[in-house]
Amino acid sequence: MKILHLFLPLLLVMLTTVASGAVKEPMRLRLDHEQREQGQFFTVTVTDPPEEPVLWFMDRPYRMFRQPDSSWRSLLPVENLTLPGSYPLLLRSGASEQKMLLAVAANSRPVQQIALDFSKAELKATEIEKSRVKAALHTESQEKLFAGSFIRPASGRTSSLFGLKRSYNGAPIESYHKGADIAAPQGTAVHSSAKGRVILTGRVDGGFQVHGNTVIIDHGQALITIYMHLSAISVHEGQLVEAGEVIGNVGHTGISTAPHLHWGTYLYGTSVDPELFEGKAL
Ligand SMILES: [Zn+2]
Repeated sequence: MKILHLFLPLLLVMLTTVASGAVKEPMRLRLDHEQREQGQFFTVTVTDPPEEPVLWFMDRPYRMFRQPDSSWRSLLPVENLTLPGSYPLLLRSGASEQKMLLAVAANSRPVQQIALDFSKAELKATEIEKSRVKAALHTESQEKLFAGSFIRPASGRTSSLFGLKRSYNGAPIESYHKGADIAAPQGTAVHSSAKGRVILTGRVDGGFQVHGNTVIIDHGQALITIYMHLSAISVHEGQLVEAGEVIGNVGHTGISTAPHLHWGTYLYGTSVDPELFEGKAL
């Protein structure tokens, strides 16, 4: 009797399949890594969900995006201050659910002491730059514009890594470096990392006194890049740019101690290490 109970649902599924003339595969959840570090991301793929799937991770939902091969995908960020450990990932699609554990490891990026000169230390982000930047970084567009390898947006060495915990002028740590800094002379060309649409251009005289002259690009499917402290901006909002297209020049505007490009990459509004993308196709 027990065996019958086990096999009866399977038998029904098989009968249904035969009746409809097609073999229906069960929903399948795949991860590209079993473990990632703080500030990295998982590529999560779902095939054959009964309905549009949604992921739940760290108490928040993540939309999945349809791919050309009809699978669904999410580049799932691990926030840089997440404590190392195992966290459940829940996949929901209609009445179906699947759960698995994701392991997060420490990235061991050290604390960076930053000295700012007094005039720049006095600067606070204005409401306009805070609200406009936040909204832009949380953009989730269905269309996938990025294709091929991501490029480094300016030539120059990395002067400050993503993820460093930061103390300004000896104050307690309350933030971390949400991008990679590329040291380059004033005026060096800045290129878009990938194809995308310019969704924000902000200028110092328009209230961007901390970010400086800034460009934000939406690459689609919740992937956004930001370019800060520019001396000049050469694109406009709404403009579609190709990978490698010049969008501005390296500068020293906003809170910046020397000419450099601050290059940030965000997934669903969470910053991840931009250098992870460099030279990779996703
Ligand atoms: Zn920076």
